[in-house]
Amino acid sequence: MKFEVTIIGSSSATPVYNRNPSAQLLNCNEKIYLIDCGEGTQQQLMKFGIKASKIDVVFISHLHGDHYFGLIGLLSSMHLNGRIKPIKIFAPAALKDILELQFKHSETILRYNIDFKPIEPGQTTQIFENADLTVETIVMNHRIPCSGFKFTQKKRLRKLIVEKLEQEQIPVEYFPLLKRGMDLDLPGGIVLRNADYTMDSDEPKSYCYCSDTLADDSYLSQLQNCTMLYHEATFLHEMLERANQTHHTTALQAAEVAKKVGAGKLLIGHFSSRYKTLLPLLEEAKTVFEHTELAIEGNTYHI
Ligand SMILES: [Zn+2]
Ligand SMILES: [Zn+2]
Repeated sequence: MKFEVTIIGSSSATPVYNRNPSAQLLNCNEKIYLIDCGEGTQQQLMKFGIKASKIDVVFISHLHGDHYFGLIGLLSSMHLNGRIKPIKIFAPAALKDILELQFKHSETILRYNIDFKPIEPGQTTQIFENADLTVETIVMNHRIPCSGFKFTQKKRLRKLIVEKLEQEQIPVEYFPLLKRGMDLDLPGGIVLRNADYTMDSDEPKSYCYCSDTLADDSYLSQLQNCTMLYHEATFLHEMLERANQTHHTTALQAAEVAKKVGAGKLLIGHFSSRYKTLLPLLEEAKTVFEHTELAIEGNTYHI
């Protein structure tokens, strides 16, 4: 099952050096989830050849503009492009008022429905579930209420050993039962042991998106052993004081988080405009956590 994330925006605060404010697309089993929607997200989607119409669920971490200023434009374009299928938006409650005010004064009546789901600030909740994955909020420590998101794949059915089933000419109508782990009683007293014809499916993977936050221990328990951790790394560690003042994280701290929770891989982003080149941030993180990559716009990372 496909489980990958494409970086749409990697900048903090303002667009700079061709970097755009935060936005990511998660693809889980060919369903597309938008995580944050900074200014320029639409342009970026076009640049990377991604159809906005494929987005059915949006998660907004908090109401600093660099995480949602692109949303009104995206929603308006969906309307103008004839969208009729509904869209779900998980976000701080006030975003509903903001969007409604903008639509009201432009006398826009959307052709499609926005199913707005307010996020409870300050608590961890499972907010979404479908056949492929669950999504929980992660309580971040930022200047205003802010949620990260943990995306966890669901355990799949058992995998068939097709070669063996074909060799023994087992009728296909039995396959769904085998996938569900059942032994089979065939006519004539033949018993097929499930373990001989199937394998366990892959362990479910998880992707944790930690947007703006002070690095502290409060949210680490939810990140334990995640397959991939995205963590903001706004500054180099020499700017620790500034990071603390603004409730942000340094590259070194992001790597320490990844190490403490036993993450498989670390992706760092939300880079300050003070850094024209990002290599020093990567090098700093790698001194603590080797499996670190920079969140580069347009790149897709397999989780
Ligand atoms: Zn931000
Ligand atoms: Zn912020």
